[in-house]
Amino acid sequence: MTRLLVVEDDPQLVRALVITLQARGYGVDAAPDGTTALRIAAARRPDAVLLDLGLPDMDGTDVLRALRGWTGAPVLVISARRASGEKVAALDAGADDYITKPFSMDELLARLRAAVRRTETPALTPDTVLVTTDEFTVDLAAKKASRAGRDIRLTPTEWQLLEILVRNPGRLVTQRRLLQDVWGVTAGNKTNYLRVYMAQLRRKLEADPSHPRHLITEPGMGYRFEE
Ligand code: CA
Repeated sequence: MTRLLVVEDDPQLVRALVITLQARGYGVDAAPDGTTALRIAAARRPDAVLLDLGLPDMDGTDVLRALRGWTGAPVLVISARRASGEKVAALDAGADDYITKPFSMDELLARLRAAVRRTETPALTPDTVLVTTDEFTVDLAAKKASRAGRDIRLTPTEWQLLEILVRNPGRLVTQRRLLQDVWGVTAGNKTNYLRVYMAQLRRKLEADPSHPRHLITEPGMGYRFEE
Protein backbone atom coordinates (compact mmCIF):
# COMPACT_ATOMS: atom_id res chain seq x y z
CA MET A 1 0.00 0.00 0.00
CA THR A 2 1.25 3.46 -0.87
CA ARG A 3 1.42 5.49 2.32
CA LEU A 4 0.76 9.23 2.15
CA LEU A 5 1.21 12.08 4.58
CA VAL A 6 -1.19 15.00 4.17
CA VAL A 7 0.11 18.21 5.77
CA GLU A 8 -2.71 20.73 5.85
CA ASP A 9 -4.29 22.94 8.51
CA ASP A 10 -7.72 23.29 6.88
CA PRO A 11 -9.77 20.51 8.55
CA GLN A 12 -12.39 20.40 5.79
CA LEU A 13 -9.80 19.96 3.08
CA VAL A 14 -8.00 17.31 5.17
CA ARG A 15 -11.26 15.43 5.57
CA ALA A 16 -12.00 15.54 1.83
CA LEU A 17 -8.46 14.45 0.97
CA VAL A 18 -8.43 11.59 3.48
CA ILE A 19 -11.78 10.23 2.27
CA THR A 20 -10.82 10.48 -1.41
CA LEU A 21 -7.34 9.04 -0.98
CA GLN A 22 -8.42 6.17 1.25
CA ALA A 23 -11.16 5.29 -1.26
CA ARG A 24 -8.38 4.95 -3.87
CA GLY A 25 -6.49 2.53 -1.69
CA TYR A 26 -3.87 4.86 -0.22
CA GLY A 27 -2.89 4.68 3.44
CA VAL A 28 -3.20 8.21 4.78
CA ASP A 29 -1.79 10.05 7.80
CA ALA A 30 -2.60 13.70 8.35
CA ALA A 31 -0.75 16.47 10.18
CA PRO A 32 -2.24 19.93 10.89
CA ASP A 33 1.13 21.70 11.26
CA GLY A 34 4.79 21.42 10.37
CA THR A 35 6.07 20.08 13.69
CA THR A 36 3.55 17.23 13.69
CA ALA A 37 4.30 16.59 10.01
CA LEU A 38 8.03 16.11 10.62
CA ARG A 39 7.37 13.85 13.61
CA ILE A 40 4.89 11.66 11.68
CA ALA A 41 7.10 11.59 8.58
CA ALA A 42 10.07 10.31 10.61
CA ALA A 43 7.95 7.65 12.30
CA ARG A 44 5.86 6.48 9.32
CA ARG A 45 8.20 6.99 6.36
CA PRO A 46 5.49 7.99 3.85
CA ASP A 47 5.87 7.13 0.15
CA ALA A 48 4.66 10.61 -0.81
CA VAL A 49 3.75 13.87 0.93
CA LEU A 50 1.04 16.40 0.10
CA LEU A 51 2.21 19.65 1.64
CA ASP A 52 0.40 22.93 2.21
CA LEU A 53 2.76 25.91 2.32
CA GLY A 54 0.71 28.08 4.71
CA LEU A 55 0.93 26.24 8.02
CA PRO A 56 0.22 27.69 11.49
CA ASP A 57 3.62 27.00 13.07
CA MET A 58 6.16 27.17 10.23
CA ASP A 59 6.42 27.75 6.52
CA GLY A 60 5.78 24.70 4.36
CA THR A 61 9.01 25.40 2.49
CA ASP A 62 10.92 24.82 5.76
CA VAL A 63 9.07 21.53 6.26
CA LEU A 64 10.12 20.60 2.74
CA ARG A 65 13.78 21.44 3.39
CA ALA A 66 13.72 19.41 6.61
CA LEU A 67 12.19 16.42 4.77
CA ARG A 68 14.75 16.68 1.97
CA GLY A 69 17.48 16.29 4.59
CA TRP A 70 16.69 12.59 4.77
CA THR A 71 14.04 11.48 2.27
CA GLY A 72 13.64 11.50 -1.49
CA ALA A 73 9.92 10.68 -1.29
CA PRO A 74 7.93 12.82 -3.73
CA VAL A 75 6.47 16.00 -2.25
CA LEU A 76 3.50 17.66 -3.95
CA VAL A 77 3.01 21.19 -2.75
CA ILE A 78 -0.61 22.25 -2.44
CA SER A 79 -0.94 25.96 -2.02
CA ALA A 80 -3.16 28.96 -2.47
CA ARG A 81 -0.07 31.00 -3.34
CA ARG A 82 -0.18 31.78 -7.02
CA ALA A 83 2.96 33.86 -7.46
CA SER A 84 5.45 32.05 -9.65
CA GLY A 85 8.26 33.09 -7.25
CA GLU A 86 6.65 31.00 -4.51
CA LYS A 87 6.35 28.04 -6.83
CA VAL A 88 9.95 28.30 -7.91
CA ALA A 89 11.09 28.55 -4.27
CA ALA A 90 9.14 25.38 -3.44
CA LEU A 91 10.51 23.54 -6.48
CA ASP A 92 14.06 24.67 -5.73
CA ALA A 93 13.61 23.46 -2.15
CA GLY A 94 12.92 20.01 -3.57
CA ALA A 95 9.19 19.79 -4.31
CA ASP A 96 8.30 17.42 -7.14
CA ASP A 97 5.17 19.22 -8.26
CA TYR A 98 2.95 22.13 -7.36
CA ILE A 99 -0.83 22.31 -7.34
CA THR A 100 -2.63 25.60 -6.84
CA LYS A 101 -5.79 25.75 -4.73
CA PRO A 102 -8.57 25.33 -5.62
CA PHE A 103 -7.83 22.11 -7.50
CA SER A 104 -9.95 19.17 -8.63
CA MET A 105 -9.48 15.83 -6.89
CA ASP A 106 -9.02 14.22 -10.32
CA GLU A 107 -6.10 16.51 -11.07
CA LEU A 108 -4.56 15.89 -7.67
CA LEU A 109 -4.89 12.12 -8.07
CA ALA A 110 -3.33 12.23 -11.54
CA ARG A 111 -0.36 14.30 -10.35
CA LEU A 112 0.06 12.06 -7.33
CA ARG A 113 0.08 8.91 -9.47
CA ALA A 114 2.63 10.49 -11.78
CA ALA A 115 4.90 11.53 -8.88
CA VAL A 116 4.77 8.08 -7.27
CA ARG A 117 5.35 6.37 -10.63
CA ARG A 118 8.44 8.51 -11.22
CA THR A 119 10.00 7.35 -7.96
CA GLU A 120 9.18 3.73 -8.76
CA THR A 121 10.80 4.04 -12.18
CA PRO A 122 13.57 6.56 -11.58
CA ALA A 123 14.10 9.36 -14.11
CA LEU A 124 16.16 7.19 -16.45
CA THR A 125 18.22 4.17 -15.62
CA PRO A 126 21.93 4.88 -16.18
CA ASP A 127 22.05 2.51 -19.14
CA THR A 128 19.15 4.16 -20.97
CA VAL A 129 20.63 5.47 -24.17
CA LEU A 130 17.73 6.04 -26.54
CA VAL A 131 14.84 8.37 -25.80
CA THR A 132 12.24 8.32 -28.53
CA THR A 133 9.26 10.56 -29.15
CA ASP A 134 6.96 10.44 -32.16
CA GLU A 135 8.93 13.35 -33.63
CA PHE A 136 12.56 12.88 -32.70
CA THR A 137 15.06 10.51 -31.10
CA VAL A 138 17.81 11.36 -28.66
CA ASP A 139 20.79 9.03 -28.36
CA LEU A 140 22.37 9.85 -24.99
CA ALA A 141 25.36 7.58 -25.52
CA ALA A 142 26.33 8.93 -28.93
CA LYS A 143 25.19 12.46 -27.93
CA LYS A 144 23.14 12.72 -31.11
CA ALA A 145 19.61 13.72 -31.94
CA SER A 146 17.73 12.74 -35.08
CA ARG A 147 14.44 13.51 -36.76
CA ALA A 148 12.85 11.34 -39.43
CA GLY A 149 16.07 9.37 -39.72
CA ARG A 150 18.26 12.44 -40.20
CA ASP A 151 20.87 13.60 -37.74
CA ILE A 152 20.16 17.01 -36.26
CA ARG A 153 23.17 19.18 -35.64
CA LEU A 154 23.09 20.64 -32.12
CA THR A 155 25.51 23.08 -30.52
CA PRO A 156 27.14 21.93 -27.25
CA THR A 157 24.89 24.30 -25.28
CA GLU A 158 21.74 23.06 -27.01
CA TRP A 159 22.82 19.51 -26.33
CA GLN A 160 23.42 20.17 -22.61
CA LEU A 161 19.97 21.70 -22.23
CA LEU A 162 18.28 18.91 -24.15
CA GLU A 163 20.10 16.22 -22.19
CA ILE A 164 19.03 17.59 -18.79
CA LEU A 165 15.39 17.79 -19.89
CA VAL A 166 15.35 14.39 -21.56
CA ARG A 167 16.91 12.74 -18.50
CA ASN A 168 13.98 14.03 -16.43
CA PRO A 169 10.94 13.02 -18.48
CA GLY A 170 7.68 14.57 -17.31
CA ARG A 171 9.45 16.58 -14.62
CA LEU A 172 9.53 20.32 -14.33
CA VAL A 173 13.16 21.46 -14.40
CA THR A 174 13.51 24.96 -12.97
CA GLN A 175 15.13 27.85 -14.83
CA ARG A 176 17.55 28.16 -11.93
CA ARG A 177 18.75 24.59 -12.28
CA LEU A 178 19.17 24.87 -16.06
CA LEU A 179 21.09 28.13 -15.76
CA GLN A 180 23.29 26.65 -13.07
CA ASP A 181 23.99 23.38 -14.85
CA VAL A 182 24.49 24.78 -18.35
CA TRP A 183 25.93 28.27 -17.82
CA GLY A 184 27.14 28.03 -14.23
CA VAL A 185 25.11 31.07 -13.24
CA THR A 186 22.11 31.39 -10.96
CA ALA A 187 21.13 34.96 -11.80
CA GLY A 188 17.48 34.97 -12.80
CA ASN A 189 18.03 37.77 -15.32
CA LYS A 190 19.81 35.31 -17.58
CA THR A 191 16.50 33.62 -18.36
CA ASN A 192 16.60 35.15 -21.84
CA TYR A 193 19.47 32.73 -22.61
CA LEU A 194 17.07 29.94 -21.89
CA ARG A 195 14.34 31.35 -24.09
CA VAL A 196 16.75 31.75 -27.01
CA TYR A 197 18.22 28.26 -26.75
CA MET A 198 14.87 26.59 -26.15
CA ALA A 199 13.50 28.31 -29.26
CA GLN A 200 16.48 26.96 -31.25
CA LEU A 201 15.94 23.45 -29.93
CA ARG A 202 12.26 23.58 -30.84
CA ARG A 203 13.06 24.77 -34.36
CA LYS A 204 15.36 21.81 -34.80
CA LEU A 205 13.27 19.12 -33.10
CA GLU A 206 9.59 19.99 -32.95
CA ALA A 207 7.25 19.48 -35.91
CA ASP A 208 5.49 22.73 -35.02
CA PRO A 209 7.98 24.85 -33.03
CA SER A 210 5.35 27.46 -32.10
CA HIS A 211 3.15 24.73 -30.57
CA PRO A 212 5.73 22.44 -28.98
CA ARG A 213 4.56 19.04 -27.81
CA HIS A 214 7.76 17.77 -26.23
CA LEU A 215 9.78 20.77 -25.07
CA ILE A 216 7.21 22.49 -22.89
CA THR A 217 7.49 25.89 -21.19
CA GLU A 218 6.13 26.24 -17.67
CA PRO A 219 5.73 30.03 -17.59
CA GLY A 220 7.84 31.74 -14.97
CA MET A 221 9.14 28.42 -13.64
CA GLY A 222 11.06 26.30 -16.10
CA TYR A 223 10.75 23.63 -18.77
CA ARG A 224 9.49 20.10 -19.04
CA PHE A 225 10.21 17.32 -21.52
CA GLU A 226 7.19 15.20 -22.40
CA GLU A 227 7.78 11.94 -24.28
CA1 CA B 1 -2.98 26.51 5.08
